Amino acid sequence: MSLCWSDTMGKNILEYNSMRKKVSEKKLFEKEVEEKLGRNDDCWCKSGKKYKKCHCAFDEKLEEYRLKGILVPPRRIIKNPEQIQGIRESAKINIAILDYIDTHIQVGISTQEIDDWVSSITKKHNAIAAPLNYEGFPKSVCTSVNNVVCHGIPSKEEILKEGDIINVDVSTIYNGYFSDSSRMYCIGEVSAEKKRLVDITKQSLEVGLQYVQPWRKIGDMGAAIHEFAMENGYSVVREIGGHGVGLEFHEDPWVSYVCPKDTGMLLVPGMIFTIEPMINMGKEDIYISDEDGWTVYTDDGLPSAQWEIQVLVTDEGYEIISY
Ligand SMILES: [Zn+2]
Repeated sequence: MSLCWSDTMGKNILEYNSMRKKVSEKKLFEKEVEEKLGRNDDCWCKSGKKYKKCHCAFDEKLEEYRLKGILVPPRRIIKNPEQIQGIRESAKINIAILDYIDTHIQVGISTQEIDDWVSSITKKHNAIAAPLNYEGFPKSVCTSVNNVVCHGIPSKEEILKEGDIINVDVSTIYNGYFSDSSRMYCIGEVSAEKKRLVDITKQSLEVGLQYVQPWRKIGDMGAAIHEFAMENGYSVVREIGGHGVGLEFHEDPWVSYVCPKDTGMLLVPGMIFTIEPMINMGKEDIYISDEDGWTVYTDDGLPSAQWEIQVLVTDEGYEIISY
Protein backbone atom coordinates (compact mmCIF):
# COMPACT_ATOMS: atom_id res chain seq x y z
CA MET A 1 0.00 0.00 0.00
CA SER A 2 1.41 3.33 -1.03
CA LEU A 3 1.79 6.40 1.13
CA CYS A 4 0.68 9.95 0.45
CA TRP A 5 3.58 12.33 0.73
CA SER A 6 1.48 14.55 2.93
CA ASP A 7 0.68 11.76 5.41
CA THR A 8 4.11 12.36 6.80
CA MET A 9 3.41 16.10 6.88
CA GLY A 10 -0.29 16.29 7.71
CA LYS A 11 -1.09 18.40 4.65
CA ASN A 12 -3.48 18.05 1.75
CA ILE A 13 -1.71 15.90 -0.83
CA LEU A 14 -2.87 18.00 -3.71
CA GLU A 15 -1.01 21.00 -2.33
CA TYR A 16 2.24 19.37 -3.28
CA ASN A 17 5.23 21.47 -4.14
CA SER A 18 8.96 21.02 -3.93
CA MET A 19 9.24 23.39 -0.95
CA ARG A 20 7.44 20.95 1.27
CA LYS A 21 9.74 18.14 0.24
CA LYS A 22 12.57 20.28 1.50
CA VAL A 23 10.77 20.86 4.80
CA SER A 24 10.24 17.11 5.13
CA GLU A 25 13.90 16.40 4.57
CA LYS A 26 14.93 19.15 6.96
CA LYS A 27 12.88 17.49 9.66
CA LEU A 28 14.70 14.23 9.02
CA PHE A 29 18.07 15.92 8.96
CA GLU A 30 17.67 16.90 12.58
CA LYS A 31 19.57 13.97 13.97
CA GLU A 32 17.49 11.73 16.17
CA VAL A 33 18.91 11.30 19.63
CA GLU A 34 20.64 7.97 19.38
CA GLU A 35 22.38 6.35 22.29
CA LYS A 36 26.18 6.48 22.29
CA LEU A 37 27.57 3.01 22.82
CA GLY A 38 30.87 1.72 24.16
CA ARG A 39 32.75 -0.75 21.96
CA ASN A 40 31.95 -3.64 24.31
CA ASP A 41 28.26 -2.82 24.74
CA ASP A 42 25.58 -4.90 23.03
CA CYS A 43 24.83 -3.45 19.59
CA TRP A 44 21.77 -1.24 19.24
CA CYS A 45 20.44 -3.49 16.45
CA LYS A 46 19.68 -6.21 19.04
CA SER A 47 21.72 -8.76 17.11
CA GLY A 48 23.20 -9.92 20.42
CA LYS A 49 26.70 -9.08 19.16
CA LYS A 50 29.06 -6.59 20.76
CA TYR A 51 28.91 -3.11 19.22
CA LYS A 52 32.54 -3.26 18.03
CA LYS A 53 31.81 -6.50 16.13
CA CYS A 54 28.50 -5.27 14.74
CA HIS A 55 27.46 -1.72 13.79
CA CYS A 56 30.39 0.30 15.20
CA ALA A 57 32.29 0.80 11.92
CA PHE A 58 28.95 1.23 10.17
CA ASP A 59 27.97 4.07 12.50
CA GLU A 60 31.31 5.79 11.93
CA LYS A 61 30.82 5.59 8.18
CA LEU A 62 27.27 6.90 8.49
CA GLU A 63 28.47 9.83 10.57
CA GLU A 64 30.93 10.79 7.81
CA TYR A 65 28.05 10.95 5.33
CA ARG A 66 25.90 12.92 7.76
CA LEU A 67 28.62 15.50 8.25
CA LYS A 68 28.72 15.94 4.48
CA GLY A 69 25.06 16.96 4.63
CA ILE A 70 23.64 13.68 3.36
CA LEU A 71 20.35 12.39 4.77
CA VAL A 72 21.23 9.19 6.65
CA PRO A 73 18.78 6.56 7.93
CA PRO A 74 17.86 6.48 11.62
CA ARG A 75 18.59 3.24 13.53
CA ARG A 76 14.90 2.43 13.91
CA ILE A 77 14.58 1.56 10.18
CA ILE A 78 17.66 -0.68 9.98
CA LYS A 79 16.73 -4.34 10.40
CA ASN A 80 18.85 -7.05 12.00
CA PRO A 81 19.08 -10.61 10.54
CA GLU A 82 16.35 -11.98 12.82
CA GLN A 83 13.95 -9.18 11.85
CA ILE A 84 14.77 -9.65 8.16
CA GLN A 85 13.96 -13.36 8.49
CA GLY A 86 10.63 -12.48 10.14
CA ILE A 87 9.80 -10.08 7.30
CA ARG A 88 10.71 -12.78 4.74
CA GLU A 89 8.24 -15.17 6.45
CA SER A 90 5.52 -12.53 6.25
CA ALA A 91 6.34 -11.97 2.58
CA LYS A 92 5.90 -15.69 1.80
CA ILE A 93 2.23 -15.29 2.74
CA ASN A 94 1.91 -12.04 0.80
CA ILE A 95 3.37 -13.71 -2.31
CA ALA A 96 1.12 -16.78 -1.88
CA ILE A 97 -1.95 -14.51 -1.81
CA LEU A 98 -0.91 -12.74 -5.02
CA ASP A 99 -0.12 -16.11 -6.65
CA TYR A 100 -3.65 -17.27 -5.81
CA ILE A 101 -5.09 -14.13 -7.37
CA ASP A 102 -2.91 -14.76 -10.48
CA THR A 103 -4.73 -18.00 -11.19
CA HIS A 104 -8.27 -17.00 -10.14
CA ILE A 105 -8.85 -13.44 -11.32
CA GLN A 106 -11.05 -13.32 -14.42
CA VAL A 107 -13.90 -11.61 -16.24
CA GLY A 108 -17.10 -11.49 -14.20
CA ILE A 109 -15.71 -11.56 -10.66
CA SER A 110 -16.27 -8.62 -8.34
CA THR A 111 -13.48 -6.81 -6.55
CA GLN A 112 -15.24 -7.86 -3.33
CA GLU A 113 -14.45 -11.49 -4.26
CA ILE A 114 -10.76 -10.56 -4.39
CA ASP A 115 -11.13 -9.08 -0.90
CA ASP A 116 -12.76 -12.33 0.27
CA TRP A 117 -9.86 -14.39 -1.12
CA VAL A 118 -7.28 -12.18 0.56
CA SER A 119 -9.14 -12.23 3.85
CA SER A 120 -9.54 -16.02 3.92
CA ILE A 121 -5.98 -16.92 2.78
CA THR A 122 -4.54 -14.43 5.28
CA LYS A 123 -6.54 -15.99 8.13
CA LYS A 124 -5.58 -19.51 7.05
CA HIS A 125 -1.94 -18.51 7.60
CA ASN A 126 -2.69 -16.95 11.02
CA ALA A 127 -1.77 -13.58 9.59
CA ILE A 128 -3.48 -10.19 9.51
CA ALA A 129 -4.37 -8.10 6.44
CA ALA A 130 -2.55 -4.82 7.11
CA PRO A 131 -4.94 -2.54 5.17
CA LEU A 132 -8.06 -3.57 7.14
CA ASN A 133 -8.93 -0.68 9.48
CA TYR A 134 -5.63 1.06 8.66
CA GLU A 135 -6.52 4.73 9.19
CA GLY A 136 -10.10 3.59 8.67
CA PHE A 137 -9.60 1.71 5.38
CA PRO A 138 -12.64 -0.60 5.24
CA LYS A 139 -11.27 -3.68 3.40
CA SER A 140 -8.37 -6.18 3.47
CA VAL A 141 -6.86 -5.23 0.11
CA CYS A 142 -6.74 -2.34 -2.38
CA THR A 143 -8.17 -3.00 -5.85
CA SER A 144 -7.55 -0.23 -8.36
CA VAL A 145 -9.17 -0.59 -11.78
CA ASN A 146 -8.26 1.36 -14.97
CA ASN A 147 -8.24 5.10 -14.12
CA VAL A 148 -7.96 4.40 -10.38
CA VAL A 149 -4.36 5.10 -9.40
CA CYS A 150 -4.38 3.36 -6.00
CA HIS A 151 -6.34 2.73 -2.78
CA GLY A 152 -9.44 1.49 -4.63
CA ILE A 153 -11.94 -0.10 -2.24
CA PRO A 154 -13.26 -3.57 -3.16
CA SER A 155 -17.00 -3.66 -3.83
CA LYS A 156 -19.72 -6.16 -4.76
CA GLU A 157 -20.93 -3.66 -7.34
CA GLU A 158 -17.64 -3.52 -9.19
CA ILE A 159 -17.48 -6.40 -11.69
CA LEU A 160 -14.31 -6.96 -13.73
CA LYS A 161 -14.93 -6.90 -17.45
CA GLU A 162 -12.98 -7.80 -20.58
CA GLY A 163 -10.33 -5.15 -21.25
CA ASP A 164 -9.94 -3.90 -17.65
CA ILE A 165 -6.56 -3.55 -16.00
CA ILE A 166 -6.42 -3.82 -12.22
CA ASN A 167 -3.81 -3.40 -9.51
CA VAL A 168 -4.23 -5.64 -6.48
CA ASP A 169 -2.16 -4.39 -3.55
CA VAL A 170 -1.65 -6.90 -0.73
CA SER A 171 -0.04 -6.16 2.66
CA THR A 172 0.36 -8.76 5.38
CA ILE A 173 1.29 -8.74 9.07
CA TYR A 174 2.72 -12.01 10.37
CA ASN A 175 4.25 -12.36 13.81
CA GLY A 176 4.37 -8.57 13.94
CA TYR A 177 6.34 -8.27 10.68
CA PHE A 178 5.01 -6.43 7.62
CA SER A 179 5.19 -7.35 3.95
CA ASP A 180 3.78 -5.37 1.04
CA SER A 181 3.63 -5.90 -2.74
CA SER A 182 1.21 -5.50 -5.61
CA ARG A 183 0.69 -6.76 -9.13
CA MET A 184 -1.24 -5.72 -12.22
CA TYR A 185 -3.69 -8.02 -13.95
CA CYS A 186 -5.05 -7.73 -17.47
CA ILE A 187 -8.63 -9.01 -17.59
CA GLY A 188 -9.27 -10.98 -20.79
CA GLU A 189 -8.08 -9.23 -23.93
CA VAL A 190 -6.94 -5.68 -23.17
CA SER A 191 -6.06 -2.99 -25.68
CA ALA A 192 -2.46 -2.78 -26.91
CA GLU A 193 -2.24 0.68 -25.29
CA LYS A 194 -3.18 -0.61 -21.85
CA LYS A 195 -0.98 -3.69 -22.20
CA ARG A 196 1.99 -1.47 -22.99
CA LEU A 197 1.31 0.71 -19.92
CA VAL A 198 1.23 -2.39 -17.71
CA ASP A 199 4.43 -3.81 -19.26
CA ILE A 200 6.42 -0.58 -19.15
CA THR A 201 5.40 -0.04 -15.53
CA LYS A 202 6.67 -3.51 -14.66
CA GLN A 203 9.91 -2.88 -16.55
CA SER A 204 10.39 0.36 -14.62
CA LEU A 205 10.96 -1.70 -11.46
CA GLU A 206 13.91 -3.46 -13.11
CA VAL A 207 15.28 -0.08 -14.16
CA GLY A 208 14.98 1.24 -10.60
CA LEU A 209 16.50 -1.88 -9.05
CA GLN A 210 19.79 -1.29 -10.84
CA TYR A 211 20.26 1.72 -8.56
CA VAL A 212 19.48 -0.04 -5.29
CA GLN A 213 22.99 -0.32 -3.91
CA PRO A 214 24.35 0.39 -0.44
CA TRP A 215 25.93 3.86 0.04
CA ARG A 216 24.05 5.27 -2.92
CA LYS A 217 21.16 7.75 -2.48
CA ILE A 218 17.60 6.56 -2.97
CA GLY A 219 16.88 9.43 -5.38
CA ASP A 220 19.02 7.73 -8.03
CA MET A 221 16.47 4.91 -8.13
CA GLY A 222 13.51 7.29 -8.27
CA ALA A 223 15.07 9.45 -10.96
CA ALA A 224 15.84 6.41 -13.14
CA ILE A 225 12.22 5.27 -12.97
CA HIS A 226 10.94 8.76 -13.77
CA GLU A 227 13.24 9.08 -16.76
CA PHE A 228 12.27 5.65 -18.09
CA ALA A 229 8.54 6.41 -17.79
CA MET A 230 8.94 9.75 -19.55
CA GLU A 231 11.01 8.22 -22.36
CA ASN A 232 8.06 5.94 -22.96
CA GLY A 233 5.61 8.83 -23.12
CA TYR A 234 4.09 8.40 -19.67
CA SER A 235 3.97 10.45 -16.48
CA VAL A 236 4.60 9.46 -12.86
CA VAL A 237 2.40 10.35 -9.89
CA ARG A 238 4.16 12.86 -7.62
CA GLU A 239 2.14 12.98 -4.43
CA ILE A 240 2.00 9.29 -3.60
CA GLY A 241 5.01 7.04 -3.28
CA GLY A 242 6.67 4.14 -1.57
CA HIS A 243 7.88 3.81 2.00
CA GLY A 244 10.03 1.93 4.41
CA VAL A 245 8.27 -1.19 5.69
CA GLY A 246 8.91 -4.22 7.88
CA LEU A 247 8.60 -3.40 11.56
CA GLU A 248 5.77 -0.98 10.79
CA PHE A 249 3.42 -0.69 7.80
CA HIS A 250 4.77 2.71 6.82
CA GLU A 251 8.25 3.72 7.94
CA ASP A 252 10.78 6.25 6.74
CA PRO A 253 11.90 7.00 4.14
CA TRP A 254 9.09 8.26 1.97
CA VAL A 255 10.04 7.07 -1.54
CA SER A 256 9.54 9.32 -4.55
CA TYR A 257 9.73 8.26 -8.21
CA VAL A 258 9.92 11.81 -9.57
CA CYS A 259 12.91 13.10 -7.63
CA PRO A 260 16.23 14.38 -8.96
CA LYS A 261 19.31 12.14 -8.99
CA ASP A 262 21.68 12.28 -6.03
CA THR A 263 18.97 13.31 -3.56
CA GLY A 264 17.16 11.68 -0.67
CA MET A 265 18.22 9.19 1.95
CA LEU A 266 21.42 7.19 1.82
CA LEU A 267 20.77 3.48 1.25
CA VAL A 268 22.48 1.17 3.72
CA PRO A 269 22.36 -2.58 4.37
CA GLY A 270 19.34 -3.58 6.46
CA MET A 271 16.95 -0.98 5.03
CA ILE A 272 13.71 -2.34 3.56
CA PHE A 273 11.41 -0.25 1.40
CA THR A 274 8.95 -0.52 -1.46
CA ILE A 275 9.42 0.36 -5.10
CA GLU A 276 5.92 1.08 -6.36
CA PRO A 277 5.70 3.83 -8.98
CA MET A 278 2.25 4.79 -10.22
CA ILE A 279 2.61 5.43 -13.94
CA ASN A 280 -0.11 7.26 -15.85
CA MET A 281 -0.90 6.97 -19.54
CA GLY A 282 -1.79 10.67 -19.61
CA LYS A 283 -0.96 13.46 -17.19
CA GLU A 284 0.41 13.00 -13.69
CA ASP A 285 -2.41 14.90 -11.95
CA ILE A 286 -4.63 12.99 -9.56
CA TYR A 287 -7.46 13.59 -7.12
CA ILE A 288 -8.94 11.73 -4.17
CA SER A 289 -12.60 10.74 -4.12
CA ASP A 290 -14.70 13.07 -1.96
CA GLU A 291 -17.14 10.23 -1.43
CA ASP A 292 -14.90 7.67 0.24
CA GLY A 293 -11.78 9.71 1.03
CA TRP A 294 -9.55 6.91 -0.28
CA THR A 295 -9.88 6.16 -3.98
CA VAL A 296 -7.26 8.05 -6.01
CA TYR A 297 -8.17 8.78 -9.64
CA THR A 298 -6.25 10.18 -12.58
CA ASP A 299 -7.48 13.72 -13.25
CA ASP A 300 -7.74 13.13 -17.00
CA GLY A 301 -9.55 9.79 -16.63
CA LEU A 302 -6.83 7.87 -18.48
CA PRO A 303 -5.52 4.57 -17.11
CA SER A 304 -2.80 4.23 -14.48
CA ALA A 305 -0.67 1.20 -13.64
CA GLN A 306 1.42 0.18 -10.64
CA TRP A 307 3.56 -2.79 -9.65
CA GLU A 308 5.07 -2.95 -6.19
CA ILE A 309 8.02 -4.87 -4.80
CA GLN A 310 9.51 -4.85 -1.31
CA VAL A 311 13.29 -4.65 -1.37
CA LEU A 312 16.08 -5.19 1.17
CA VAL A 313 19.37 -3.35 0.78
CA THR A 314 22.18 -5.87 1.27
CA ASP A 315 25.98 -5.57 1.52
CA GLU A 316 26.27 -6.32 -2.20
CA GLY A 317 23.10 -4.73 -3.61
CA TYR A 318 19.53 -5.81 -2.99
CA GLU A 319 17.24 -8.74 -2.28
CA ILE A 320 13.60 -8.74 -3.40
CA ILE A 321 11.59 -9.68 -0.31
CA SER A 322 8.07 -9.53 -1.71
CA TYR A 323 6.72 -9.17 -5.25
ZN1 LIG B 1 24.40 -4.28 15.09
